[in-house]
Amino acid sequence: ILYSQLLRASLRSGVRLQGTSAAAAKAPSPACHYVSTELSEQQKEFQQLARKFAREEIVPAAAEYDKTGETTQLPVVSGMGLSIFDTCLITEELAFGCTGIQTAIEANSLGQMPVILAGSDAQKKKYLGRMVEEPLMCAYCVTEPGAGSDVAGIKTKAVKMGEEYVVNGQKMWITNGGKANWYFLLARTNPDPKCPASKAFTGFIVDADTPGIQVGRKEMNMGQRCSDTRGIVFEDVRIPKENVLLGEGAGFKIAMGAFDKTRPPVAAGATGLAQRALEEATNYALERKTFGRVIAEHQAISFMLAEMAMKVELARMAYQRSAWEVDQGRRNTYYASIAKAFAGDIANQVASDAVQIFGGNGFNSDYPVEKLMRDAKIYQIYEGTAQIQRLIVAREHLGRYKK
Ligand SMILES: Cc1cc2nc3c(=O)[nH]c(=O)nc-3n(C[C@H](O)[C@H](O)[C@H](O)COP(=O)(O)OP(=O)(O)OC[C@H]3O[C@@H](n4cnc5c(N)ncnc54)[C@H](O)[C@@H]3O)c2cc1C
Repeated sequence: ILYSQLLRASLRSGVRLQGTSAAAAKAPSPACHYVSTELSEQQKEFQQLARKFAREEIVPAAAEYDKTGETTQLPVVSGMGLSIFDTCLITEELAFGCTGIQTAIEANSLGQMPVILAGSDAQKKKYLGRMVEEPLMCAYCVTEPGAGSDVAGIKTKAVKMGEEYVVNGQKMWITNGGKANWYFLLARTNPDPKCPASKAFTGFIVDADTPGIQVGRKEMNMGQRCSDTRGIVFEDVRIPKENVLLGEGAGFKIAMGAFDKTRPPVAAGATGLAQRALEEATNYALERKTFGRVIAEHQAISFMLAEMAMKVELARMAYQRSAWEVDQGRRNTYYASIAKAFAGDIANQVASDAVQIFGGNGFNSDYPVEKLMRDAKIYQIYEGTAQIQRLIVAREHLGRYKK
């Protein structure tokens, strides 16, 4: 429903359809004058549609999805060819409704991003084309049981045999793992341990129904339970050489490069969760009475709400800056990691404060904030942990000063 509404809005405003993010980068969002925080009419329309959809369709269903872990009825937004900035606006609104649903959608972008960035025309047509024809899922398969932050430590191997590569290895924590139609897969193609990461790995597109792929059970996670997370085993999986992205050895850069475009939406998701926690806590504080007055009138509570509001506003500015930078075609690694780290942290702080403001009720699953607190944690872990973001920010920052 949301997809068709957004599509109509974008058609009215002449947004390119089925465009890649490169096309979007050439057509900067109207919000490109960063000093202006005013959204364009079209952006406001996207935001309002997503907001309405989240509040009317996702919010009422979220608790049930959380209980059952069911994912099949989820709406999927893809193929709009929007800028990263506009995508972030929509992402924040959907995350307000349920970040489990938003993560399932976002993981689709993460899976597609290597193909958008490095795919040949034929690969894009085949694999991105089908994503806009029907609401399919894909997944990004990089992490393994033995290596997450240390991506260069992955052990999955791909060996060239004639016109094919034969892949053996195991991936872990793959979002949409059991729903994906195809995977982006990172595997080691150079067995020499001295080979630098920038040359040792290759990125592949793998059809999910290729023989030798075994998808594991749906993992029971702390939060975002309706998002499908699985381990995947690759046993003698044969991939045609046409499915190599860019060329043998180019995989590490492709896999890491995707994050510059996907971390801003992840930060937007965390901001949406924090906004939800702030709104729930504010409404509650204006109703709940202790000592003869609503608790919002106790200064301790009102100051907590003020701190929460400050954090949400700053997280929003951070994700918008990082999205705007990349839409201008500029390297945004520094801003993307700042936004991801900050929004991930404040989502946890704000959700925890919301539970505090709800008192005993906050600890109970009949109220919405305990889910928010559980859902928030993953923002400090996936797409690069809070610590890894700080390593990146420090590297980028010091790099500007080193002579
Ligand atoms: C629900 C969920 C969904 C996910 N979805 C995907 C997906 O779709 N695709 C995918 O490929 N992966 C996915 N992941 C994997 C995720 O990206 C990794 O879990 C994450 O990168 C951390 O890796 P790790 O779990 O191996 O932890 P480790 O790398 O072992 O880290 C453990 C701890 O050590 C810290 N640490 C590690 N190295 C350093 C360092 N140099 N300095 C300081 N601290 C450090 C980390 O910050 C962390 O606190 C998902 C994970 C989860 C839980």
